[in-house]
Amino acid sequence: MGRKFVVGGNWKMNGDKKQISEIINTLKTGPLSPNTEVIVGVPAIYLEHVRTNLPQSIEVAAQNCYKVPKGAFTGEISPAMIKDIGVNWVILGHSERRQIFGETDELIAEKVAHALEAGLKVIACIGETLEEREGGKTEEVVFRQTKAIAGKIKDWSNVVIAYEPVWAIGTGKTATPQQAQEVHKALRQWFCTHVNADVGNSIRIQYGGSVTGANCKELAAQPDIDGFLVGGASLKPEFVNIVNAKQ
Ligand code: PGA
Repeated sequence: MGRKFVVGGNWKMNGDKKQISEIINTLKTGPLSPNTEVIVGVPAIYLEHVRTNLPQSIEVAAQNCYKVPKGAFTGEISPAMIKDIGVNWVILGHSERRQIFGETDELIAEKVAHALEAGLKVIACIGETLEEREGGKTEEVVFRQTKAIAGKIKDWSNVVIAYEPVWAIGTGKTATPQQAQEVHKALRQWFCTHVNADVGNSIRIQYGGSVTGANCKELAAQPDIDGFLVGGASLKPEFVNIVNAKQ
């Protein structure tokens, strides 16, 4: 089906110039599988520095942006600004944006639509909380989050979905390969039914939540897992092993 494996690093609000130099060196040394698309999600203030210092074969992503090109929105950055410094990707809808900063499905969908219009590629994050999982609502929640985006965009070719169960993020509790595969498969089916089969078969769905060098291979072997979005481990040398999980 030709879905290229795609691994994103989400540095979140971590790193200083010294640590970032070390990470850049690790990434340059690799070796990184040419069969994996690699994207590092960098704090906004370091985006240009990282873009300038990494080879073009490694993509860089912002971790957020606003839904309009410019204006009186103190503290925000626009997709146009991200493009202007040579960065091609943005991560949107991360559960920390949803939970800590109160971003709604609607706002995230608007941001995704505008980022795509502005020519960025998007990693769109979805995922259920522990309470929702235990209440049997996992599919209902991830379908609702996806549907909000589907209401605002038609072309999914520049979108990667990151399925990140909130209970697995930063907790050391990874979803089992079976749990992750089950949701990825259901999401692909949702796309086939509610968008179309082409999108369903071609859209890449990353798993995120406590992915490590130790658990990545078994997850990568699942048929509907097309890559990872990695938080904590993306700051460490083991990120290289995660990039190479599919080899
Ligand atoms: P984690 O974070 O790998 O530290 O669990 C994943 C994410 O938030 O994208």
